[in-house]
Amino acid sequence: MTTINKILVIGAGIAGPAVCYWLRRFGFSPILIEKFANIRKGGQGLDLRGVTIDLVKRMGIYEKICNMRTQIEFGRYMDAGDNILHEEKGERFGFRQDEEVEILRGDLIEILIGALECVPCHFNQLIDKIEQNDDNVKVHFKDGRIEHYDLVIGADGMHSTTRRMVFDKDEYKLINLGAYFSVFSIPNYLNLNHTEVQCEANQKLISITSDKNPKMAEVAFMFRAQNVLNNICDKKEQQKFLRDTFQDFGWEASKILELMSDSDDFYFDSVTQVKMKSWTKGRVALLGDAGYCASPLSGQGNNLALVGAYILAGELKKADGNYTRAFNRYNELLHSFVEANQKLGVWVSESFLVPDEVSKEVAEERSNKILQEVKIVSNMISLPEYE
Ligand SMILES: Cc1cc2nc3c(=O)[nH]c(=O)nc-3n(C[C@H](O)[C@H](O)[C@H](O)COP(=O)(O)OP(=O)(O)OC[C@H]3O[C@@H](n4cnc5c(N)ncnc54)[C@H](O)[C@@H]3O)c2cc1C
Repeated sequence: MTTINKILVIGAGIAGPAVCYWLRRFGFSPILIEKFANIRKGGQGLDLRGVTIDLVKRMGIYEKICNMRTQIEFGRYMDAGDNILHEEKGERFGFRQDEEVEILRGDLIEILIGALECVPCHFNQLIDKIEQNDDNVKVHFKDGRIEHYDLVIGADGMHSTTRRMVFDKDEYKLINLGAYFSVFSIPNYLNLNHTEVQCEANQKLISITSDKNPKMAEVAFMFRAQNVLNNICDKKEQQKFLRDTFQDFGWEASKILELMSDSDDFYFDSVTQVKMKSWTKGRVALLGDAGYCASPLSGQGNNLALVGAYILAGELKKADGNYTRAFNRYNELLHSFVEANQKLGVWVSESFLVPDEVSKEVAEERSNKILQEVKIVSNMISLPEYE
C-alpha cells in the first residue's frame, strides 16, 4: 500500500481551507496555495444550512460564525417604480430556519483559514502544468519550480485550472443557466440600517444591503440575458454589459451603476453549473465549485464545498493510503447530494428572474416553497463518522 501524506490543495476559497482543516486533523500534510496575493474576500452573505451546521460544530467554528454573522433585521421588496411591495423579517427573507446562519463570504474564509494549524499557505502561486504517474503528481509552477505530491486537490472554483489541466473536455460540462450574477460594494447612500432591499422586474433583480458597516452597502445584480460576452473575465466588458442591461431598469439602478466604477471588490460571473460523472482522475480530485458548482442561485455552493471537503478527507483517512478506494467513495457518497442541490439551483433560477411582475402573493408562495425545498436538499446526506 502506498503512503499518502503530502497533498497539494489549489485555491484558498471555501473548499480549499476546509479540506486542509480535515486533512490535517486526520493526520495528512496538506499545503494550500492561492493564485491571488491575498485571500479573495469579495462576495455577499452565504448561508450555512442543514448538515453543514453539524459539520461546523464538529470543526469548533460554529460559535465564531454566529459571532460574526450578518444581522439583517428586515427585507423589503420594491417595484421598479420605487413602491414598497412588502416587508419580511430578515431570517425569513433569507430563507433561514432554526440554527441556520448567514455570514459574509470573506468572514467565513477568514474563520476557516484561522482554524488551520500547521498548514503552509502560499499566495501568488500559479501552476503551468500537472503531470501524474503511478507514484506521484508532478506540478510545474509558473516560476519554474517543479514539486512532487502524493495527491492534488483542485479547489480552484468554477473556472478551475486544475479541471482544465487534468480532465479531458468531454469529462465535464459547463451548463450556463442563461443568467448572470454580479456583487460589489458601494457607499450606503440609501442609509439602510441592517436592511436588505430587493427590486425585481422583467427578468432582472437588484438587491442592496447594509448591515454591520453602516457606511457601506453590498449590491447584487442578477439577470437573464442571451448576450455572450467576448471575454467573460474582462472587467470593463462585464461592467459595460451591466450598464447596457440595466440602463432602463428604473429604481436605483442608474445611481448604483454610477458608483460601481469605484468599487474595489467587483465580482461578475455567469450563472453556470459544473457537471461531471467523476470528480477524480488518477491522483487528482476536484472539490467544491471546481467539480460541482451549483451556481450562486442555489445558495448551496458553500455547503456543497464544506460537506465535500469533509467526505474527501474522511474517506482518505478511512482508506488508509488507498486513494483509489477513497476517491471512489467520495464520488459515490456525494453524487445524489450534488444532484439535488444543482436541481434546486435550476428551479430557483426559473422561479426568480421571471418576465411577469412579482406580486406579494407570488413572492410569498415562492418564499414558502424555497424554505421547504432548501430544508430538504441541505439535509439530503448523512455525514459519515471518521473519528
Ligand atoms: C470573489 C468571489 C465572490 C463570490 N461571491 C459569491 C456570492 O456572493 N454568493 C454566492 O453564492 N457565491 C459566491 N461565490 C462563489 C462561492 O464562493 C462558491 O460557490 C462556494 O463557496 C464554493 O467555494 P469554492 O471554494 O469551491 O470556490 P471559490 O469560493 O470560487 O474559491 C476558489 C478559490 O480558488 C482560487 N483560484 C482560482 N484559480 C486558481 C489557480 N489557478 N491557482 C490557485 N488558486 C486559484 C480563487 O482565487 C479562489 O480563492 C463567490 C466566489 C468568489 C471567488
